[in-house]
Amino acid sequence: MQKFKDAREAALALRPDEPVYCFRPEVLKADARNFMASFPGKTAYAVKTNGEELVLRTLIEAGVSAFDVASPGEFAAVRAVSGDAEMLYMHPIKSQSDIRLALEKYGIRVIVVDHEDEITKLSRVTRALDIDPGTLTVFVRIQTKGHAAYELSKKFGAGPANAVELCQRLHRMGHKVGLCFHVGSQIEDPDTYERALASADWVRNRIGFELAGLDLGGGFPAEYGHDPRAKKLDMPSLGQIMSRLRGDINEYGFSEVPLVAEPGRVIVARAFSLIVRVLLRKGRRLYINDGIWASLSDSWTGKITLPARFIPDPAIRSRNGNEETIAPFKVCGATCDSVDILSRPFWLPETIDTGDWIEIGHIGAYSLSLRTRFNGFYPDTFVEVSTPFDEGDAPQGFASLETMAD
Ligand SMILES: *Cc1c(COP(=O)(O)O)cnc(C)c1O
Repeated sequence: MQKFKDAREAALALRPDEPVYCFRPEVLKADARNFMASFPGKTAYAVKTNGEELVLRTLIEAGVSAFDVASPGEFAAVRAVSGDAEMLYMHPIKSQSDIRLALEKYGIRVIVVDHEDEITKLSRVTRALDIDPGTLTVFVRIQTKGHAAYELSKKFGAGPANAVELCQRLHRMGHKVGLCFHVGSQIEDPDTYERALASADWVRNRIGFELAGLDLGGGFPAEYGHDPRAKKLDMPSLGQIMSRLRGDINEYGFSEVPLVAEPGRVIVARAFSLIVRVLLRKGRRLYINDGIWASLSDSWTGKITLPARFIPDPAIRSRNGNEETIAPFKVCGATCDSVDILSRPFWLPETIDTGDWIEIGHIGAYSLSLRTRFNGFYPDTFVEVSTPFDEGDAPQGFASLETMAD
């Protein structure tokens, strides 16, 4: 992989017409280590956030030794980079053949359920493979209510009373039993984890045996930009969230229970930026070479605003306007689909023109993993960059990715 000091150097050297991902391995390692140092338990990176081989390999180098996986593709991706990394199979709804593959081929011994029929599938597989139930830790996923940019608690999780029954059944079967929750991605309310811990406490107090683990899922917020015209969401820093979380864990009496977290976004967001090129400027519209079917689909809630840096093409000799003036541009994606328009503008210097580049920062989470091959566009060019996105000149603008109608 070619290495550059920063995205500007890469853009000017390569003059790329295709989108280029700028990977920052040192930032990834630092963010992973920072999380591991502040979370009082096991850190299992959520592979779905960004399962690229270079990401998983770098995380192993950083000392991450456990991964939250959800599918055969993710089992294989982790095994490809490490023969002994632990995998936690944390998808509540699984096919019986995938459960078998996980237990038999990949040696997975941590799994989640949120319904009695999932327990039935699991017990069919453990009986067929003659696995001692005591070697298997089964987490029961409980429903939580919270505020996150991506609300995921509506889809999965057992209600508290039902969770008590599921736990007791698993305990009678001889399994080690844990509780887990996942509050959604990019939490927007610092009370979210406390409410989930309160539910877990309610269940724990009724099961009548010791829990083998408590898994707090993901949701830890990454740093993004913010729309200067809108009210800034008042969120504590990760350090503050973690220190509060440690306090809540003690208060609810979970400090003796083995803890797990499944962070994704907070670990990988800053590790990538993306260089896109302006294929055409048409008035206040920019047609770029990426879009919602490729790297920019982490947008379906419209809640994420990414910092953006202008990389002017030095070959453009004359420009209209003032580089200091930041103006809103409607951004059209690369495909021929009329849905592929970001309805929130990118705010960029009004001098931007056909041929210029834009570096979109903090795009490591849910960008590469959500690319499609729609219309034949599939960004897959990587360079390595050493300077963190936030160092050097402040970004000139921001890219708000909302795709819903304005
Ligand atoms: C998606 C997911 C995660 C990761 O969430 P982030 O918000 O990216 O940290 C963790 N656990 C489960 C079960 C998930 O589905």
